[in-house]
Amino acid sequence: DPRLKAISDALSVVPNFPKPGIMFQDITTLVSNHKVFKHTVDIFVDRYRDMGISVVAGVEARGFIFAPPIALAIGAKFIPLRKPGKLPGEVISEAYELEYGNDCLEMHVGAVEQGERALIIDDLVATGGTLSAAIRLLEREGAEVVECACVIGLPEVKGRRLLDGKPLYVLVEPR
Ligand code: IMP
Repeated sequence: DPRLKAISDALSVVPNFPKPGIMFQDITTLVSNHKVFKHTVDIFVDRYRDMGISVVAGVEARGFIFAPPIALAIGAKFIPLRKPGKLPGEVISEAYELEYGNDCLEMHVGAVEQGERALIIDDLVATGGTLSAAIRLLEREGAEVVECACVIGLPEVKGRRLLDGKPLYVLVEPR
């Protein structure tokens, strides 16, 4: 698919951000290119439109860029999975490990109904810890996680078909 090369070419890499030694994969240059942003959303929409998905969950913050256009196009609701203390209603939380320390994702209680089919979207998967926490949140509320999808996957994880037993779909490797 020639669109994948255009997507990869539109990413930029920022060395030593946010810390020395980290090569940050930056999607702002992808989404500021209308054609390439549309290619990215279209690939996901083509894949998910006929899969009976009624929930698209986006992971704060960059998952919020990709999940809503996908949700609108496939006729699903969007739900935000947020960092602690941001959602106003009653929440459930799941902690996950980062390279240094821990973080946590929260979801509103009642955001999904029992048995709803859900897709989880983020910009990038590295260790998979963030997506695992997202899967646990949705499953605790009774949703069925159909797949996790990211624009970028580290080579180790891109070769993996499953993440905690759930299918993982990734478009490109980091530049
Ligand atoms: P994981 O939990 O180790 O899979 O890390 C994935 C999370 O870290 C995602 O929410 C990403 O947005 C974020 N992340 C890690 N590295 C990068 C990067 O280079 N660019 C953008 N986001 C990143």
